[in-house]
Amino acid sequence: MDTNFNFDNSYRQLPADFYDLAELNPVSAPAILILNDKLADRLNLSVEALTDSADELAGNKKFPHSEPLAQAYAGHQFGHFTMLGDGRAVLLGEHLMPDGSRYDIQLKGSGRTAFSRMGDGRAPLAPMLREYLISEAMHALGIPTTRSLAVTATGDTVRRETAQPGAVLTRVASSHIRVGTFEYAVRQGIVKELADYAINRHYPELATSSTKYIDFLYAVIDRQAALIAQWQSIGFIHGVMNTDNMTISGETIDYGPCAFMDSFDRATVFSSIDRQGRYAYYNQPGIGQWNLARFAESLIPLFGQQTDEAIETAKEALTYYETQFDQYWLNAMAAKIGIRTPQPEDRDLIGELLSIMEDLELDFTRTFRQLSLQQPVDSALDDWKVRWQKRITTEEAPFELMKQVNPAIIPRNHLVEKAVNSSDLTFFKELLTQLEEPFSDDHPDLYLSPPKETEQVFQTYCGT
Ligand code: AMP
Ligand code: MG
Ligand code: MG
Repeated sequence: MDTNFNFDNSYRQLPADFYDLAELNPVSAPAILILNDKLADRLNLSVEALTDSADELAGNKKFPHSEPLAQAYAGHQFGHFTMLGDGRAVLLGEHLMPDGSRYDIQLKGSGRTAFSRMGDGRAPLAPMLREYLISEAMHALGIPTTRSLAVTATGDTVRRETAQPGAVLTRVASSHIRVGTFEYAVRQGIVKELADYAINRHYPELATSSTKYIDFLYAVIDRQAALIAQWQSIGFIHGVMNTDNMTISGETIDYGPCAFMDSFDRATVFSSIDRQGRYAYYNQPGIGQWNLARFAESLIPLFGQQTDEAIETAKEALTYYETQFDQYWLNAMAAKIGIRTPQPEDRDLIGELLSIMEDLELDFTRTFRQLSLQQPVDSALDDWKVRWQKRITTEEAPFELMKQVNPAIIPRNHLVEKAVNSSDLTFFKELLTQLEEPFSDDHPDLYLSPPKETEQVFQTYCGT
């Protein structure tokens, strides 16, 4: 039966240094645990045929016309440069849709590649389920993200601190080109080839511009500013914003130690390895800029300018990031309190609310939803509410707007941990279904409530 995968392999037209052709690494007993029917439909794939494709989705067998490869890249990890590559992922090919859109189909956890270094190339089941759940929740929240098509059990054991069941995630992305791919390319002397490829793939409208590489830098900066502002507005903490985990497309990628905040605290860090808080909630916008500075440096040789002038161009672009981020942030946060066209002084109103929420350790998601539903909130907010209500009298349908942007339900960490570590997928599937409707209040209380003190989860792991 035909899955309808319409594979093209345009990445192979790049210089060979960008990838390593990958042999598939068979596993013992492939079994699909979860398949994303809705995403399959959207991609024009046959759910029936996919249901029969456990061997292909576990890497035991190739789909027709798939030419698997592992992508090379580099990256600054916690500020330190390293040569990397897909150490546990292979690109099966690019699925071409009738409308010309193109999606990378990748297997994650499919075994060793040329870039595996000391790793086994495998992934334990729980982190793959975690990525599936949170990436799909992000999509439902309207935030650009890689998607998850399936999780397939391998039947093999993965050895970490304990022995765990192994699994392969089928990841769908508009591409896997990262800031780190550019850092790699510049060191190999092949950055122009990558830039042209990425522009044609993601920003084709820039291809004929006489300043296309500068425009490209600005375009990526704009998308990342928009993305990170959205993360901030829903309390999402990525957790490992290394340059290899920042896409050129502007999609969120790499759901390792990420988590959503419960009670509001700007300094929140979940990741067990982020001991200095480099990737804490309030550092995310600045780290975004730091990563984009590495991107700008990679592109400087292409600007067609003298070095001094090119450096100035890059610096201006990074200032543009600040302006754009501020505007996106203000728009997103103002919308959360019912304001469609924010004025500069609305920053104070938002800032005061956040300060009170932080002082009182109020739940980030619930507080905004309660305000949207005009439900009682902590009395410490009374004075603020008087000023706020005065401000929104001139706004059109503020509560309607608020209900559209303030989710009732997010993948709370205590629920995610329970879902991905259970002996069967009943709770996982239930949680996933609830998360598909984040702006509805029609959910059992269990999914809406912040964790009880005994349920709180403070630490997350990379899951490698
Ligand atoms: P991450 O921190 O998830 O972005 O991963 C950093 C790098 O380590 C990436 O290049 C991964 O492909 C690689 N990596 C992570 N886990 C493994 C593993 N189990 N085996 C081989 N490579 C891995
Ligand atoms: Mg990564
Ligand atoms: Mg990762």
